[in-house]
Amino acid sequence: MNEKQIVILGAGYAGLAAAARAGKRGRVTLIAPESRILHRIRQHETTAGLPVTRPAVAEVLRGRGVRHVRARATELDLGGRKVLLDNGDTVAYDTLVYALGSRTSWHGVPGAEEHAYPVERAAEVAERLRAAERAGSAERPGTVERPGTAERAGSTERPGTVAVVGGGATGIELAAELAEAHPRWTVRIVTGDRVGGWFSTKGHDHVHRVLRGLGVGIHEQSAVTAVDAEGLTTTAGRIPADLVVWAASMEPHPLAARAGLAVTPAGQAVVDDHLRSVSHPEVYVIGDAAEVTVPGTGTLRMGCATALPQGQYLGKVLTGRTDKPFAFRYTAQCLSLGRREGLFQFIHGDDSMRPTVLTGLAGRLAKAAILKSVVLSLR
Ligand SMILES: Cc1cc2nc3c(=O)[nH]c(=O)nc-3n(C[C@H](O)[C@H](O)[C@H](O)COP(=O)(O)OP(=O)(O)OC[C@H]3O[C@@H](n4cnc5c(N)ncnc54)[C@H](O)[C@@H]3O)c2cc1C
Repeated sequence: MNEKQIVILGAGYAGLAAAARAGKRGRVTLIAPESRILHRIRQHETTAGLPVTRPAVAEVLRGRGVRHVRARATELDLGGRKVLLDNGDTVAYDTLVYALGSRTSWHGVPGAEEHAYPVERAAEVAERLRAAERAGSAERPGTVERPGTAERAGSTERPGTVAVVGGGATGIELAAELAEAHPRWTVRIVTGDRVGGWFSTKGHDHVHRVLRGLGVGIHEQSAVTAVDAEGLTTTAGRIPADLVVWAASMEPHPLAARAGLAVTPAGQAVVDDHLRSVSHPEVYVIGDAAEVTVPGTGTLRMGCATALPQGQYLGKVLTGRTDKPFAFRYTAQCLSLGRREGLFQFIHGDDSMRPTVLTGLAGRLAKAAILKSVVLSLR
């Protein structure tokens, strides 16, 4: 009866990995709206209309003694140690694990939120592309249907140009996938700096070669300053587009800052070497929601690659299996570039590049193996 109540917010890679390990004694409640994991690292495939298997949360948690409440947290009462949910309930905790992840950041670019699709709306983009292709040929770019408007059937849309904003890993994977799956569309990737500019020379060149081979137009040094119904305004001029997908960057979920948890200027929670909030030690923050700095490795980037080990580590902390500080070294960076190509970039433990890469089928298979291992590692 007097068992301590652990409440975990979010069933992403971090939250789910923590829950699967911490729920040994039936005192863990996981709060997240979805019945199947979001599986964000495959959202570019969903965007391109490819079938993606998303494991059920219940399956990952089977036999782990975790109660899953399918709801959203709307407020945190840090003083009263309770979470308010969108179904009207309140859940009390002794220990809170905050793992609400991140979401698309619009950077205050005028028109972006109204006229561009965030990657979170992957399924809508896929439907929009399908509707346009059902409606006719690629010859005539058609009317732009603004995100959020419902009518799809009978649309006069024709395939035209899709612009992917963002030259990071998400933008690259999206552009490659869209170009391969929808060859009748013109795909452009648009970024303020360089596309894949952080990779080794071999890695960077491979990304560009594959994108060009798929017919993707590459627009570098073209920071987007506005989005409208006809396309993008950039620092290098206009780029017409019928459909814009925004993959420029992510920002942490705002609930932590709103509740009064100590956060960085970017909104990530400030945590100690055990991933505990520095302002509220009964709250752990993991995944994209936290700014985690590891001695010798540096401040971790947002990513499944960093979120998953944090969840695994915290599961051990919460069940008393470790009291060591969180340790982490990088091993590789990996991209899918459509269904036939990939890039496996070898890196140092601090995320800096090695010159070596795997490309072609080897790169593709390496990425496929990582995707599989992510799902297996959740348990
Ligand atoms: C297309 C794409 C490809 C990517 N590829 C890679 C890759 O190859 N490698 C890599 O390392 N990273 C990749 N990433 C980044 C990676 O997906 C994220 O960094 C990772 O998902 C963060 O995990 P997380 O557990 O912190 O949060 P998330 O995965 O964002 O999960 C957040 C959880 O919180 C839940 N939630 C949100 N709001 C509420 C609320 N109010 N109440 C309750 N629950 C809530 C969500 O439903 C979800 O369950 C990619 C991202 C995208 C978009």
